Amino acid sequence: MFSLAQKTALVTGAGSGIGRAVAQLFARAGATVWVVDRDAAAGEGTVAAIRAAGGAAEFAALDVSNEADALALSARLPALDILVNNAGIGHVGSLPNTAAADLDRLYAVNVRGAFNLCRAFVPAMLARGRGSVINLASVAGVVAVRERLAYTTTKFALVGLTKALALDHSHTGVRFNAVCPGRVETPFVQARLAESPDPAAARREMASTQLAGRMAQPEEIAAAALYLAADESAMVTGSTLMIDSGWTAGK
Ligand code: NAD
Repeated sequence: MFSLAQKTALVTGAGSGIGRAVAQLFARAGATVWVVDRDAAAGEGTVAAIRAAGGAAEFAALDVSNEADALALSARLPALDILVNNAGIGHVGSLPNTAAADLDRLYAVNVRGAFNLCRAFVPAMLARGRGSVINLASVAGVVAVRERLAYTTTKFALVGLTKALALDHSHTGVRFNAVCPGRVETPFVQARLAESPDPAAARREMASTQLAGRMAQPEEIAAAALYLAADESAMVTGSTLMIDSGWTAGK
């Protein structure tokens, strides 16, 4: 297993799903993990699970869309080695049922949230000449997904943000990468299923886009984040790591 011993990591949206799995795996790999979420009960739950397993974790409440709060948080935390921008929200709809407010709501979290955390924590990484930033994008950041107009738009923007940061800071020792999962079985997906007119059909459709015929587990995404966080991936920056069981292979 890749080691994150002596490293400090911050994971947003770590109260649930992929973020929780990432926080737990990073702690098992030896990192001190700052669990960040706007849902305090969920975040505290992740911290309790990490500590029960012998790991080191602290909770900090934050809505990532709030720039001032993100900056204030960075002022009271130690410098980070690893930042995982995982917090994200979804929306089901094409043009007729996507309001401008839906687009703004998703943009505020999925794009500006990652931007805010980078503004808050990357300057210290640049000053120290090392760091790894991992953005949780999606297949929807690389190909369009039907009935996900706002979500696809924001995930393409997040991939763009990742590449722009990687290019601008290519000689600094700070790396920026995106992880692009297909469908992962998390509360996020359960919520999307519940929003669908026919949840059973939606579940079949969600699994069918992946060649394995099943959704991924959060731990299968966390493993990729661990690689990108570890020093072994020193040559990887500006990349989009697809974990989609071939969804985009022929596109
Ligand atoms: P989830 O809903 O299970 O967990 C998201 C967590 O983020 C929650 O704990 C929530 O409280 C927190 N959060 C939401 N908005 C926040 C905000 N503004 N500030 C702070 N915390 C906030 O989601 P998940 O399925 O684990 O997804 C995590 C990430 O992975 C998202 O960015 C999502 O778009 C992406 N993703 C998920 C899938 C999937 O199939 N589940 C696929 C591709 C990409």
